[in-house]
Amino acid sequence: MTDTAKPSNTPRRVVIVGAGFGGLEAANSLRNADVDVTVVDQRNHHLFQPLLYQVATSTLATSEIAWPIRHLLRKYSNIKTLLGTVKSVDTNARTISTADGEVIPYDTLVLATGARHAYFGHDDWEPFAPGLKTLEDATTIRRRILTAFEKAEREPDPKRREALLTFVIIGAGPTGVEVAGTIADLARDTLKGEFRVIDPATAKVILIEGGDRVLGAFAPDLSAYAQRALEKLGVQVHLGNPVMKCTADGVEYAGKFVGAATIIWAAGVQASPAAKWLDVSADRAGRVVVNDDLTAPGHPDIFVIGDTATVKNGDKGMVPGIAPAAKQQGIHVAKTIKARLAGDNTPRPFRYRHAGDLATIGKRAAVTDFGFIKLKGYVAWWLWGLAHIYFLIGVRNRLAVAMSWLWISVSGARSARLITQKDAAEEDHLK
Ligand SMILES: Cc1cc2nc3c(=O)[nH]c(=O)nc-3n(C[C@H](O)[C@H](O)[C@H](O)COP(=O)(O)OP(=O)(O)OC[C@H]3O[C@@H](n4cnc5c(N)ncnc54)[C@H](O)[C@@H]3O)c2cc1C
Repeated sequence: MTDTAKPSNTPRRVVIVGAGFGGLEAANSLRNADVDVTVVDQRNHHLFQPLLYQVATSTLATSEIAWPIRHLLRKYSNIKTLLGTVKSVDTNARTISTADGEVIPYDTLVLATGARHAYFGHDDWEPFAPGLKTLEDATTIRRRILTAFEKAEREPDPKRREALLTFVIIGAGPTGVEVAGTIADLARDTLKGEFRVIDPATAKVILIEGGDRVLGAFAPDLSAYAQRALEKLGVQVHLGNPVMKCTADGVEYAGKFVGAATIIWAAGVQASPAAKWLDVSADRAGRVVVNDDLTAPGHPDIFVIGDTATVKNGDKGMVPGIAPAAKQQGIHVAKTIKARLAGDNTPRPFRYRHAGDLATIGKRAAVTDFGFIKLKGYVAWWLWGLAHIYFLIGVRNRLAVAMSWLWISVSGARSARLITQKDAAEEDHLK
């Protein structure tokens, strides 16, 4: 098929791969349309990734930020949900194949398979420096953080104890900043008075960033504020030096080695292999370079959206890899599919509307950048909180999350401090 190939006039079988922000929005927007939609995801739940760091740092429970996809789509009789991992796309036969061998035909395909963290060619660092993308990642990090405090309480060797009480976060984008601030709160506030040998408040939280400021996508004055707020919480911020090595014992950067039992990776993303499935060109992060109507080059019946695609944002660079962009793309694709059904095949370029950037620092400060207005401090924290509660799904979760945050804000106590699913490899790692 070439770029000039015509899209199908009857895209009745729509297959959406991935029920993250982009895929779920596309499915929702096709509810009750004259199409049969099949949503395939390798997980049974839709995940609200912006609050994943709160599971990793014992603030929220897993079920407060994830919902069964089947339940979310239950009311739409034209939408079918399948649990399965897609492994390939046959663009000639117009089918996708899952890992367990099922072949699913499509007229229109929407690939919304997201991204994962990337280690810049150092995948061997992953066991020592897990990233944060899935609920399993979050509970792994939570387990490591809490286990490190437990082991420190029983560790007679002061050097080893210091390493157990050292938490290194690599990458100072919103996730790195949020994780660092919350671990500092956990150590100085939540765990206060609970240990008999160690003082959790002596824990070192080190945030390492290769660039020259934290929150590089925000306005410089907000970056500077965020750094000051982190330092006030006791976080050591190290800028301008990329990490050279991660091992079971710590990290090497700026020509020195810092002993740390817990390292968290919050730098770099790698898109899902959608570009390989389609054999189309990708950028350095593996994102499909899509046409401005979000179709894959040469495949007018295949849309690629969200974190697994890259598309120009007019003269403002590229559309950012954030949840609102994925959602807007999901809605755009659904509208295009409906227009095609009505016989309108004119290309519909995607236009992105940026609402703003938000990030929290600990439990009482945040920065919000809406372009025309920039806020920082407690007011920004409230705005951040309200925005996130608004975007959560379901009244019960909104109330539960709001209650957890208010409770933490007042008492410092975090209810989700559970060490679960210990595995032998990790036990060795934290010895
Ligand atoms: C820790 C973290 C914090 C973030 N914080 C923010 C924030 O504060 N604000 C913000 O706007 N954005 C934030 N983001 C980014 C935002 O979450 C992403 O931009 C958004 O999720 C992209 O949506 P998506 O639909 O492209 O992919 P995703 O939401 O990642 O969904 C992809 C889906 O595809 C499924 N999938 C993947 N591969 C396959 C396969 N082979 N077969 C079947 N299913 C598959 C996955 O299971 C998943 O459900 C954050 C991301 C992370 C990781």
